[in-house]
Amino acid sequence: MYNPKSHKAEEFIDHEEVLASLEYAEKNKNNIEVIDKILEKARQKKGLSHREAAVLLDCEIEEKNKEIFELAEQIKKDFYGNRIVLFAPLYLSNYCVNGCVYCPYHLKNKHIPRKKLTQEEIKNEVIALQDMGHKRIAIEAGEDPVNNPIDYILESIKTIYSVKHKNGSIRRVNVNIAATTVENYKKLHDIGIGTYILFQETYNKETYERLHPTGPKHNYAYHTEAMDRAMEAGIDDVSLGVLFGLELYRYEFSALLMHAEHLEAAFGVGPHAISVPRIKKADDIDPSAFDNGIDDDIFAKIVACIRIATPYTGMIISTRESAECRERLLHLGVSQISGGSKTSVGGYYNPMPDWEDSAQFDVSDRRPLDEVIKWLMELGYLPSFCTSCYRQGRTGDRFMEICKSQQIHNFCHPNAILTLKEYLEDYASDETKRIGEELIKKEVEILESGEKVKTAVIEDLKKIEQGERDFKF
Ligand code: SAM
Repeated sequence: MYNPKSHKAEEFIDHEEVLASLEYAEKNKNNIEVIDKILEKARQKKGLSHREAAVLLDCEIEEKNKEIFELAEQIKKDFYGNRIVLFAPLYLSNYCVNGCVYCPYHLKNKHIPRKKLTQEEIKNEVIALQDMGHKRIAIEAGEDPVNNPIDYILESIKTIYSVKHKNGSIRRVNVNIAATTVENYKKLHDIGIGTYILFQETYNKETYERLHPTGPKHNYAYHTEAMDRAMEAGIDDVSLGVLFGLELYRYEFSALLMHAEHLEAAFGVGPHAISVPRIKKADDIDPSAFDNGIDDDIFAKIVACIRIATPYTGMIISTRESAECRERLLHLGVSQISGGSKTSVGGYYNPMPDWEDSAQFDVSDRRPLDEVIKWLMELGYLPSFCTSCYRQGRTGDRFMEICKSQQIHNFCHPNAILTLKEYLEDYASDETKRIGEELIKKEVEILESGEKVKTAVIEDLKKIEQGERDFKF
């Protein structure tokens, strides 16, 4: 039944295969020989199968767990250096016809204020985001064919790209909307989206159907096969994720990796990124009502094992998590974070008091973007506002090829330096600017992309000081 090349959800996420990998992991979690063999393979930095990764996730040998965490850190450094890419979510509408039991946007929630941004309101949100320094956003919307039809989403994307306020611009719009048709994915592709993001929520079909009792999202196969339709439509950067807390984390972990393997097997290109959200408190949602919550230690192990199993795939952590938790996960493999986020509709331009708030969930890391940037730099990271890859045609297999050969540094590092410089010139506080200028000096000095690139970066940095913008490799 299990067939990673099949386009049928129940064949590429075969329940029996998930159970078999959990059994394999349980059997081998204390088997040093097997674990050493898996670690040896992992050190080649070409990834692991879901079964192998499941053994590492379950491994109980302290000394081997230490090796797992060290390897995750090493792989993170080798593929992503010290760069961390920044983005922010933009909530367009919280109208929704689904019945997802963990989400306050569910249809039966009558007391959350419903809101859909007009194009004028979207402009205001975008200006507020640009004034923070953001260049990359992820748009979010509930599923509602009447209130949020695809034409509304497309028009909103056009509006977002059109706003040029002072030196600001949103250069990459990623899209997190409900599973849709090939025809609609084609429209999203044609309008120039970055990544299509869709969280599976849970891969366990029975649990999925129970937690999505009503609405179009109830259809497990349609949701699980969404990335196949997106790829068929030409979107080659897709981002996976599960909502940890809904189902046993071991099950989700193996199935998530099977999904990544499926995309690689069926389309020749794995997911561009994987998100690791955990369920949060929200209007009429109590996370303790879900039995499968995971603590910070298990969460860290999951992130480390995903990093080892899929070295080429970006990993995203949102402001659902606290600064302390995010700091730990940055070491272990996270390459992209949101900052200064608002999860309410219209919340950037017009922050609302709690009782009027349309927020999807509580954010834990509430620091303004400038503080997040300063914090990253103080931790030794290079914050990046780069959006270059997809604008230079480096998507899908072209991106993966460069990534696999580890040439990605030659593009990403100069681009990170240049976009950080833009941020410092246009938006940073004095203290952040001072720390940032020092960092840029140091990073240019140790740039490994050759003398030609180094000279170009130094020239571009000067031009940015003189007011020019948007240099990219
Ligand atoms: N409506 C779209 C869909 O059906 O996929 C996606 C947009 S939704 C605004 C983005 C994600 O937020 C969901 O996929 C879900 O995983 C996550 N989410 C929903 N409720 C949450 C909660 N209480 N805590 C944390 N994340 C939540």
